[in-house]
Amino acid sequence: MPVVCNKCNKSANDNDVIVCDLCKSSIHSICAGLSRQETECVRLKKSKLRYFCDKCNIVEIIGGLRAEVEKLRSEVAELKYEKTGNVLNKLLSEEEIISEVDDRQRRATNLIVYNLPESDDKTVINSKQDDISQFAALVSSEEWKN
Ligand SMILES: [Zn+2]
Ligand SMILES: [Zn+2]
Repeated sequence: MPVVCNKCNKSANDNDVIVCDLCKSSIHSICAGLSRQETECVRLKKSKLRYFCDKCNIVEIIGGLRAEVEKLRSEVAELKYEKTGNVLNKLLSEEEIISEVDDRQRRATNLIVYNLPESDDKTVINSKQDDISQFAALVSSEEWKN
């Protein structure tokens, strides 16, 4: 059955053409830029090959891209959710660890000394040092022993 090539508009033999999988138009396999082997493969539906004419190829590509974009978009959304979830979990566990350590330290040094003179030094480390020496002086003083 003679057909007309959708590309060059010349008549073609059924055996010489490849049929677009979408619009079902016939194109010379040469006009489609396909080798005889490639044409045979598509014709025999080997390895799930499909052929789209130039016009349909664009439609197919756009459709494929749309699907790809949708897939990527949902993957990104998932990743964002996972990331946020992980960060929250991490923050929570770190906070728990810190408060636990803090609690242990508080119990370990549960010694409060009243009426120590305020350190003049404003830096924390130095004022701590100052407190310690003040405390040492207090403990070793005669007043403490009475
Ligand atoms: Zn042709
Ligand atoms: Zn087509």
